[in-house]
Amino acid sequence: MNKIKRTVAVLLGIAVLTGCTAEAVQANTMPAAAYVTDETTITTTVTTTTEKPVLTTTITEGVTAAPVTSPEETTVKTITEATTEKTTASTTSVSTTTAPKATTKVTTAPKTTTTAKREPKPVKYTNTITLLGPNVVYTGESFKFTYKISHRNAERASVLWQMVGGSGKLYNDGTFEATAPGIVTLKVSDISNGLSDTLEVHVVDSPEDIDFVCEVNGIPIANKTYPVPKDYNPGLLTETYDAFMELKQAAYLEGIEINFMSGFRSYQEQVEVYHGWNDVYSEQADRVSARPGHSEHQLGLAIDVNSIEFTFADTPEGLWLAENCWKYGFIIRYKEGTEHITGYIYEPWHIRYLGKEIAEEVHFSGLTLEEYLGIDSYYRIEEYVFEE
Ligand SMILES: [Zn+2]
Repeated sequence: MNKIKRTVAVLLGIAVLTGCTAEAVQANTMPAAAYVTDETTITTTVTTTTEKPVLTTTITEGVTAAPVTSPEETTVKTITEATTEKTTASTTSVSTTTAPKATTKVTTAPKTTTTAKREPKPVKYTNTITLLGPNVVYTGESFKFTYKISHRNAERASVLWQMVGGSGKLYNDGTFEATAPGIVTLKVSDISNGLSDTLEVHVVDSPEDIDFVCEVNGIPIANKTYPVPKDYNPGLLTETYDAFMELKQAAYLEGIEINFMSGFRSYQEQVEVYHGWNDVYSEQADRVSARPGHSEHQLGLAIDVNSIEFTFADTPEGLWLAENCWKYGFIIRYKEGTEHITGYIYEPWHIRYLGKEIAEEVHFSGLTLEEYLGIDSYYRIEEYVFEE
């Protein structure tokens, strides 16, 4: 632990010398909603043809140790396999139950990925409108809610915003001004296509009033703006663990060792972690550690791997992780040079589980999760009050 602190101390020193502290001050002036969804249409997976063959080749090699073929050949082969498996789905699952767990995972993983990638090609219109934004807004603040429409006539949508319950001010562009604590129900309708969606939003005076998991676009979020309830103790979620094992296995097949270091941390554990950093850095601790009740680790959706040293980024393991973790549903949560947005310095070892579809979108967007969701990350309470 001491070694870890010293390493970060040295690197923090470097960060200060290079002027990173100025960025931290800008946290309050973060631009709003970089995630533009107003103009709607359908979410398609962002992929380039160069990525696809890399993915399929890699995995196919791992499974069958097949000779290297051209990307086209590999893709065709994998797709054929996937299709075959689909038609005999029930038989396959029965027969594979006897196989060792690890082997089953490796063989099924690439097929799932390939299938998911093929799906977006024939565009399916599900005829929905989805209201996007957080389920909590602080009193006295505003948030511009957006929406996403999946419909053939999405471009001709005539959109109407309404507040169907609670108090506050809602503008024509979806901006909601929170005036008094309570619950408001926002509604967005696409009148011309007969679609609508609602979202319940808690208006709270302070982070201490939040006794539920904060979500943005339905995604659980913990950062400096959005806290986690003190008694929320889900442990490391199964989906996080399973996805990590899949990632670890895939890395191993490429000669890369990714090790689990730290997963779920309770509020009480975070008290100790934060206090430890505070002893070393006093107020600078906020740059490297979340205050109790603000850690993503408490959501059971984050994992620290290998080593919490910046040098990890340039190791084969760190490079592999940054390039490939999205394939297994993770993102590098605190990217280099984004402290003014995420609220934390670069953490090449900290991965956040989002599920494959969203992780892929975030990865190829090049954005931080905050920018992707159009949210900010700064403490509403300036000073941390230490618990005795
Ligand atoms: Zn972490």
